[in-house]
Amino acid sequence: MPKRGWLIVLSSPSGGGKTTICDRLLRRNCRLKRSISMTTRPPRGQERQAREYYFIDKLEFQKSIRTRQFLEWTQVHGHYYGTLKAEVEKQQRSGRDVVLVIDVQGGVAVKQRNPEAILIFIKPPSFKILEARLRGRGTDDRKTISGRLRHARWEMAQALKYDYVVVNRRLSEAVRQIEAVLTAERLKVQKR
Ligand code: ADP
Ligand code: 5GP
Repeated sequence: MPKRGWLIVLSSPSGGGKTTICDRLLRRNCRLKRSISMTTRPPRGQERQAREYYFIDKLEFQKSIRTRQFLEWTQVHGHYYGTLKAEVEKQQRSGRDVVLVIDVQGGVAVKQRNPEAILIFIKPPSFKILEARLRGRGTDDRKTISGRLRHARWEMAQALKYDYVVVNRRLSEAVRQIEAVLTAERLKVQKR
């Protein structure tokens, strides 16, 4: 029977770089698979159904809450987001390590249920740089960006609840540091 894969959580404030970093990690490490979340947020830019998210409406999301489909779910920036238990279990059973790209509330909830999950917080080098990256991404209007920046102050304080903090200054360096974390975790002596 294959060994159950790990649960790896990547969180950051919006614009912190977690999606970009996850894409790079997945390209470089074929053992890693990203869990696709469900959301009620409409697709933006080039996003496609079942690639970035499973885009669904609010009623369907609420039904999935009632039928306990989620490992965790949250409401952020006016929309629902949730990690599907089935999505994670499918990958883990096949021995793959699953990466969850989720917000800090979700990360903390995952750790409560799965203490062995590895929580990595990605910090932008400064708020000024975070704002510039959000503007540069060009996916949100001014009002949305200021809301995301206000929320970012609270999110940054949650980094203390994570196992590791990686500053996303240079992309390649941040990716290498996360790979170093995963290598160290792999080399850990199992005490159980
Ligand atoms: P998140 O998924 O956390 O909301 P993204 O991955 O979308 O953030 O990154 C936000 C923007 O910042 C994107 O335009 C991305 O290309 C850019 N970005 C991410 N990391 C870096 C970096 N280290 N240096 C410069 N730009 C970056
Ligand atoms: P965005 O709208 O920018 O794609 O995502 C907004 C926030 O929701 C981001 O911090 C993103 O990581 C988070 N998010 C995406 N999917 C999930 C999920 O399934 N659960 C939780 N808790 N947060 C999620």
